[in-house]
Amino acid sequence: MRQALVCGAGGFIGSHLVRRLKQEGFWVRGADLKYPDFSESWADDFVIGDLRDQRVVAAVVDRRFDEVYQLAADMGGAGYIFTGEHDAEVMHNSATINLNMVEACRLAGIKRVFYSSSACIYPAYNQEDPDNPNCAEGSAYPAAPDSEYGWEKLFSERMYLAYNRNYAMQCRVARYHNIFGPEGTYDGGREKSPAAICRKIAQASSGGSIEIWGDGLQTRSFLYIDECLEGSLRLARSELEGPFNIGSEEMVTINQLAAMVMDIAGKKLSIEHVPGPLGVRGRNSDNRLIKEKLGWAPSQTLRAGLEKTYAWIEAEVRRRAFANHLSA
Ligand code: NAD
Repeated sequence: MRQALVCGAGGFIGSHLVRRLKQEGFWVRGADLKYPDFSESWADDFVIGDLRDQRVVAAVVDRRFDEVYQLAADMGGAGYIFTGEHDAEVMHNSATINLNMVEACRLAGIKRVFYSSSACIYPAYNQEDPDNPNCAEGSAYPAAPDSEYGWEKLFSERMYLAYNRNYAMQCRVARYHNIFGPEGTYDGGREKSPAAICRKIAQASSGGSIEIWGDGLQTRSFLYIDECLEGSLRLARSELEGPFNIGSEEMVTINQLAAMVMDIAGKKLSIEHVPGPLGVRGRNSDNRLIKEKLGWAPSQTLRAGLEKTYAWIEAEVRRRAFANHLSA
């Protein structure tokens, strides 16, 4: 039986990935500081442990897994990454995890390690025009990410590729662009914009208003979780090392994203623009390279993914309100 290790299996993408690998017939070990927040893990074995600790990593990487997915990171949305308050932790924690993991895999004779980097590595100077951001893979240098989170990702993706060159490993590097979907964080400060907007709209009464950070004219693209998994598995199993963008090219403004969710929810709300951490002015995935080399591109629209995500968040908001009501 093929065996896979998913680090970060208690997180959003990792918990979905474990499920997908189980459906494919793998024996799966998950590792994380915590279990998934919203449903039971499907992993055959789940190690609760801190991957900054080399002893934990040695125990987790105790065999020659066929596939290793390294998704564990200290991360969050703009409210976590762009305030500056978590810069040192983010860099120290995530770099330590990656340093430990790639070396443990080398020592265990594991060749294939998939690493999830981020669109946050792209230079801020190429993302000032909201209508025309440049996020082609080759535009990463001269490097100027707009966050320390992005700098750590850039360091780590280079490290995985250096292990390929110097130790004949076959690490694969993806640069994810805003992944969203059910069972993702939707409150508490680490949530990303699609989840935050779905939550605010689910909580608002018709005719009310929601808050959006900035003028809402900043642009982004968002990729639904199932598409992300498909792209990631294809890359992990290919002969191409990357880095490749895994994202959607359907760019929208944050105001348009909110309008789409309001339409799905059937609510007419006004938008109050308030100051908040924003990140770059424009960002869009550029899928030309991955399409050409790997033949992968997302298959569904943003709206289709948002419909499923909104339905899940709306049910969560209702479930929580009911639980609070009962305990009051
Ligand atoms: P997530 O925060 O839901 O999952 C990350 C998991 O890592 C968490 O469950 C966390 O507990 C775990 N973790 C953190 N520190 C750890 C430690 N010291 N030891 C063990 N586990 C630890 O994030 P996600 O959205 O599932 O993202 C997965 C990966 O994809 C991350 O590397 C992230 O940087 C990358 N990524 C995600 C997006 C996105 O839009 N979700 C975009 C770009 C890149």
